[in-house]
Amino acid sequence: MEVLATLAAEAASCVACPLHRSRTCSVFASGPSSASIVLIGEAPGANEDATGRPFCGASGRLLDAALIAAGLHRDEVYVCNAVKCRPPANRPPTGPELAACRDFLLRQLAALHPAVVVTLGASALRALGVEFASLSSLRGTPLALPAPFAPLRCLPTVHPAYVLRRRRTEMEGFLADLTAAAALRP
Ligand code: SF4
Repeated sequence: MEVLATLAAEAASCVACPLHRSRTCSVFASGPSSASIVLIGEAPGANEDATGRPFCGASGRLLDAALIAAGLHRDEVYVCNAVKCRPPANRPPTGPELAACRDFLLRQLAALHPAVVVTLGASALRALGVEFASLSSLRGTPLALPAPFAPLRCLPTVHPAYVLRRRRTEMEGFLADLTAAAALRP
């Protein structure tokens, strides 16, 4: 889709926040523009920064396996991050960095019109303007996104890196959340 290609080119040369200084390349997205499910992570890590592809390291492999177990496939979902450039030492993006990159997310989602947006972790949910005290109280249940992302709906879950560190206790809940998201497809 032309609008997404234009946005990716804009992100590649964007200097709107300090993260442009530490990137090798911006990491815009992967997946088809016809996807009915969009997954949003936090930020690129080292592997993503080197390759330009989101979720291609250990967290990505866990995500791929979890998608298959939930009846989905990586090739049918659109995957991106709340910020397009890697924060130094993989720290979480700051509020101003999330705000600076929000317009890319807004225009991506406006072009995609997905049936559901799955946020992977707290930063992605905050980037969409959702205020919350505890992610665990929201995960797995669809919610209506506030303006300017309305009328899209979102299904929050945890980040695959979190599941990777606690696979024995967290994998089951992560699969349940992705299965709930898959059921929201048209
Ligand atoms: Fe621009 Fe987003 Fe990269 Fe910041 S993180 S430089 S706003 S593309």
